[in-house]
Amino acid sequence: MKQRLISIVVPAYNEAGCLEDLYGAVCMALADAPYLFELIIVDDGSTDETAGVIESLAQQDHRVRGVHLARNFGHQAALLAGMAEAEGDAVVTIDADLEQPPAAIPHMVRLWTSGFQIVHGVRQDNPKATWFKRTTSRWFYRVFSFLSRIPMVPGMLDFRLLDRAVVDALISMPETDFFLRGLSAWVGYQQTHIPYEAGMRRFGRTKYSIPKMISFAVRGITSFSTFPLRLATYFGLVMTLVSLSYGGYVGVRHFFWEHPQPGYASTILLISFLLGIQFLLIGVLGEYVGRIHVEVKRRPRYIVARRTCNINGKQAALHEDPSPADARPVRRVINP
Ligand code: UDP
Ligand code: MG
Repeated sequence: MKQRLISIVVPAYNEAGCLEDLYGAVCMALADAPYLFELIIVDDGSTDETAGVIESLAQQDHRVRGVHLARNFGHQAALLAGMAEAEGDAVVTIDADLEQPPAAIPHMVRLWTSGFQIVHGVRQDNPKATWFKRTTSRWFYRVFSFLSRIPMVPGMLDFRLLDRAVVDALISMPETDFFLRGLSAWVGYQQTHIPYEAGMRRFGRTKYSIPKMISFAVRGITSFSTFPLRLATYFGLVMTLVSLSYGGYVGVRHFFWEHPQPGYASTILLISFLLGIQFLLIGVLGEYVGRIHVEVKRRPRYIVARRTCNINGKQAALHEDPSPADARPVRRVINP
């Protein structure tokens, strides 16, 4: 029987210090596995030695391939690029920094062979992460699940196994705002979770600054829920009811009891409050209009500048026509 192939997809942005350890850890985890694997490292426009490290790994081991993007397109685009290149019967996505344990991959594969098409790795609460990162992350998953009605568990990062059918469904989705965490929960199929202990980043530092985290969270939520837009309607409705009731009350008071007192403070407070809310909701509206603007341009989500692989023991750096960028490349036979 033909042996199954597992593709391991690693997005890497300035991760030169991590990749050899990651490669070692993957080889160790899968040393006795009854299936083949390929390691696809996506160099997401790194400015350090990442490309060189990928090339030397590919030289040593034909199971390693590099996909070099034309610039930094971001974590989600890099994952998508790797998934589009993968040839395996299942794809495992994992970060380069060893915060996620390659040793858990065989367990994921066992669950896959037992019938699950998606196995999410769920990071257990990470006591080493800062209080800020832990709290914001927990809240993000709560708000996201509430607004999108897609059940996401806190700690569901981008360490997961996806069956070939799921990968094909995901890479055929046309949206520019590709939010893999949400989409992989959204697609359905048989899904399950495995918990894992968070490891420590070996080298370098996190590529997610606070503005990047905020932008990631906003994009995730706006691409899955229109509830924030509806807030304006709800708020307008409540304010109309409140002002009608208050108008009635003031009228009754005027005619039957006393003349109204001047109330500058309350007037200014009310106006500034309403203006504040109005601008906030215009901002929310703008966020969605901006997303439509980005989507209608239909730009490719990433551009592959070149690929590195090792064919018949010879290092080959393939320079290819970068367009169409995120169409699936021609299938090559790996691990014949
Ligand atoms: N990453 C990427 N492109 C980016 C940012 C990050 O490919 O623009 C990769 C990064 O190299 C790592 C993974 O995405 O393999 C997760 O990033 P990181 O570890 O910095 O995030 P954190 O774990 O701190 O949330
Ligand atoms: Mg990390």
